[in-house]
This record gives sequence, structure tokens and C-alpha cells, in this order.
Amino acid sequence: MKDEETCKKEIEDYAKIFDNRCDCCCRHIDELKPFGGPGDPLAGDFTGLPLVKVYRYDFPKSEIPSEYSDCLKKDGEIDEQRFIEKYGREMFDEITEFMSSFDIVSSYRLCRDCILLDREQFCKKSHESFMEFMNTKGIIAKWLILQKEILSK
Ligand SMILES: [Zn+2]
Repeated sequence: MKDEETCKKEIEDYAKIFDNRCDCCCRHIDELKPFGGPGDPLAGDFTGLPLVKVYRYDFPKSEIPSEYSDCLKKDGEIDEQRFIEKYGREMFDEITEFMSSFDIVSSYRLCRDCILLDREQFCKKSHESFMEFMNTKGIIAKWLILQKEILSK
């Protein structure tokens, strides 16, 4: 059995495979066409950069529960009274808790192909690419084994 330090070190090393990659398509900067020049999709001068930091929603809009969208007011806020009459207080509490994490944005480093994707496209592509990348590298299995070794200490 490896000691905790060794496991932590290995996990850190594994985390490094995400360095210098697009956070959406997982391609390495060596494979990316840098920003700038003809066809540059961005306003602002990012000439020569392979990745640009932007803020994106973590979840696609399509994951918003239909009960929630069903009871929205014109200003985009939920109509609490109407929702509770229709679906009950318990569900209202659950859904507002779920939705509170829904509008969180995180910073991502994206390549010129991914930076223009809309919220739905971005969430779909980043999820698919991530799973594919992890599977190709056999990383998920390795990662889980390392975590388990640490937890078993
Ligand atoms: Zn990309």
C-alpha cells in the first residue's frame, strides 16, 4: 500500500494532464490554432493566444425542471404562490435549492473553436469531450483507485 503522500503526489500529477488544454474540447494547446488573424471570432486582441479565459454557466438551460419554467413570472423570477398551489411547498423548497446552484458561472479557458458556443452547446460539448478524454487516457479508473487508497487510510 502506498503512503498518503505518494497518493497525493500521484493525484497532483494526474491533474496536470489538464494543464494547457481547452476546458471544453480538452485539446492541448499544441493542437490548437491561436486567436488572431483572419476569421478570428473574438472582439478584443487575443492574437497569438491559444486559450482565452471566459466565464460560462456550468449547467445547460435544458436541465431546468419543467415545473420551474412553468411557473416563471415575466421578469424571470419564480411565481412562488402559483408554484406552491400547483406543486406544493416541499417541491418548491427542493426546486429553489436546486436552482440556486444553477446560475453559477465558472471561469474556463477556451480555444477559438469553443469560445463561441452557446450555453447548451458548451455544456454538451465540454461534458462529452471530458468523458472521452478521461476514457481515452484510462484516467477515471486510476483516479478512483488513488482516491480509494487515500480514503482507506
Ligand atoms: Zn476547445
